[in-house]
Amino acid sequence: MSTGTSSTAEATDTADADDGLLVAEDVRKYFPIKGGILRRHVGDVKAVDGVSFSLEAGETLGLVGESGCGKSTLGKTLVRLHDATEGSIYFDGEDITEAPKNRLRELRQDVQIIFQDPGSSLNPRMTVADLITEPMRALTDWDREKREDRLHELIEEVDLQENHLKRAPHEFSGGQQQRIAIARALSVNPKLVVADEPTSALDVSVQAKILNLMEDLQDKYNLTYLFISHDLSVIRHICDRVAVMYLGELAEVAPADRLFDEPKHPYTQALISGVPRASPEPMSDRVILEGDVPSPENPPSGCRFHTRCHEYIGEVCETDDPELLEIGDNHVCACHHYTD
Ligand code: SF4
Repeated sequence: MSTGTSSTAEATDTADADDGLLVAEDVRKYFPIKGGILRRHVGDVKAVDGVSFSLEAGETLGLVGESGCGKSTLGKTLVRLHDATEGSIYFDGEDITEAPKNRLRELRQDVQIIFQDPGSSLNPRMTVADLITEPMRALTDWDREKREDRLHELIEEVDLQENHLKRAPHEFSGGQQQRIAIARALSVNPKLVVADEPTSALDVSVQAKILNLMEDLQDKYNLTYLFISHDLSVIRHICDRVAVMYLGELAEVAPADRLFDEPKHPYTQALISGVPRASPEPMSDRVILEGDVPSPENPPSGCRFHTRCHEYIGEVCETDDPELLEIGDNHVCACHHYTD
């Protein structure tokens, strides 16, 4: 059994198809930059730059990082909404990195995605019933009776009502719209759900209800979640393991409790130090992240975090890119503090 994550250098040897439901091996996603009159290729935005990990069936892995760190691009690449520039992606033991369109269509039944803003991801001209049954019509060979049974089962499971079925999505609150989006995603009985900031557009009180609903549905259907969020409080609530991403690379991956109690990477420490706590005491250990995330078009040499790091060691941080190494049970970190 793998640790769930391997360094880029080790990935080819250790992350294979048997390691989990979803396995990423040294995945890169570059977006080309064109320039000049002839629109020549003059560079790349390196949104994802060598990510390796595995996701076990039934697990919830959180993917966190600041805006622009590449987490949403990674999520879309893993479910083949983007084609990977390099690397390999395995789903349930199958290499899907270059799966053709007809195979991708079949794969959509097993892998679904929930987006941040249900108001824009749900077709405003469709009724709730049509929105939830559309994936079943498109991706399964279920007959009408089976689709109808599933629709009514889901409506109950996501706490909507039968009299909602004929209405349009704009007639609902943000929380109800996200319930419709969840029912739509689960309609085809997927194994893996990639949830990209699914609660970010919702009020805090509604967020908790949606998170609890997602947990209940995970238990019922043994779902596997890749949960993408910039909100560490949300991540702590729902995730078994957390992967911290910075400028297209993984900085640290650990079980959620350990990551929050003993963050090792300076970037993780800074993120966690900013999470509000219930204690009335001032946060004396708060680490303020200076400056903005550098451009993924021209990332810093060596450790990409060195331009903002409060634990900077010296020249090695600017010259050598630290590998993601195991520093504890199921805990990996990419920082020269742990290289030796
Ligand atoms: Fe900071 Fe150096 Fe570690 Fe990077 S390698 S996180 S710059 S101490």
